[in-house]
Amino acid sequence: MTLADPQTRFMFHRMGSLAAASREKAWAATPDADALKARAIQARDRVLQDLPGHLARLEQAVRAQGITVVRANNAQEANRRIVSRLRELHAADALRNHHPLLDEIRVDEAARINNIRLTPLLLGDFLARLTDTHSGHPVWPIGHLTVERISEALRQHWRVPETYDPDRLASLVRMRLRRMLLRADVAVMGVNFAVVEDGLFVFLDNDGHNPSLLSLARHVILVLSIDQMVADLEGLQALMRVFALSAWGRPLPAYIAHLQQAAPPGVDGPQTLYLIIVDNRRSEIIAQGFGQALRCIHCGACHTTCPVYQQIGGEGYAHSPYTGPIGTVINPLLLKPELGAQQTFLCDAAGLCASACPLDIDFHGLRQAFRRRRAGQTRAGEDQRFIALWRYLIHAPRLFRPFWRRVTRHPNRSQPR
Ligand code: SF4
Repeated sequence: MTLADPQTRFMFHRMGSLAAASREKAWAATPDADALKARAIQARDRVLQDLPGHLARLEQAVRAQGITVVRANNAQEANRRIVSRLRELHAADALRNHHPLLDEIRVDEAARINNIRLTPLLLGDFLARLTDTHSGHPVWPIGHLTVERISEALRQHWRVPETYDPDRLASLVRMRLRRMLLRADVAVMGVNFAVVEDGLFVFLDNDGHNPSLLSLARHVILVLSIDQMVADLEGLQALMRVFALSAWGRPLPAYIAHLQQAAPPGVDGPQTLYLIIVDNRRSEIIAQGFGQALRCIHCGACHTTCPVYQQIGGEGYAHSPYTGPIGTVINPLLLKPELGAQQTFLCDAAGLCASACPLDIDFHGLRQAFRRRRAGQTRAGEDQRFIALWRYLIHAPRLFRPFWRRVTRHPNRSQPR
């Protein structure tokens, strides 16, 4: 659908140019832009250069605040922990926030297998599920959908009256989400940043779904990837500003929610907190010399400049939530080698991603280094055989269509009821 439908392609271009225009305008109006980027890079590198030390200090601070902390080496372990905590809380229904780590570990699928309904509270994520299509952009999950497509999906699933008024459509979905929120007992929440010196968890968003969850859910399961720490509040301030400027084209995020400990009785907020710290190959990535790829804060600026992403959308990146230029760098390191290796070729060397990235990630250098390493590891001809098979498939539409439908249907996307 994405490759063939001109309307969808047009919407990807439109999303890209609107996002790029607001980002460029916001950065141009930032007087300390260069110094700010330098502070943000320094904050990321400081953590990545000493992950074990920062992790130990964070765990100590968080335990002192009465929060249960567990570690998970991989996605399976993280999901086992999440599901067993949900069972302990007798949660048949739970809400989740918008966060790439939750998609990376495929928590929705793990919950579904265990008969637990995990519903995304972000309007865009909810509609992406309902329409079974995702832009792959980390901030604009439905930036590629037309009002007509959304209206049709709502009529089909909920039998609502026909309307093409975006406000009316949004309020129909929000009303349903609010009803779920009022019943919410448990939330699973990916953390944007954890501040080591204060044991503070920070959540950023543009529609307020994080503060809503933190006010109304009685039990919160926090999921943090080991690289998303920041040493102190000064580093946090730089990263929040950079994120808001590059993701939304605004000086600060519209909503900043933070949390340090469970709420005392009688006060709004979660009564229990349970933290899962997920590695999932990140220590390995750093040990192999690819740590710079983990500087990424998932602002999506590189996506909206990338000519390949604008042609293929988010569905060509092996079911990974990391798409666009950063996907071509992170996926080879996070996914199984045979799946990830081809991802480095989803690039036409335009170089626009490097100029858009506020954290100065060397996309080209990382891809080259990975290819060199891969060339030393693969059996002769393995990649050539894959390319020959791919060439054969794209010239055989009757074989290609079912194959493409199968590989692009994201297993983490069940339709919300
Ligand atoms: S690689 Fe850079 S531009 Fe792309 S999402 Fe990450 S931080 Fe943003």
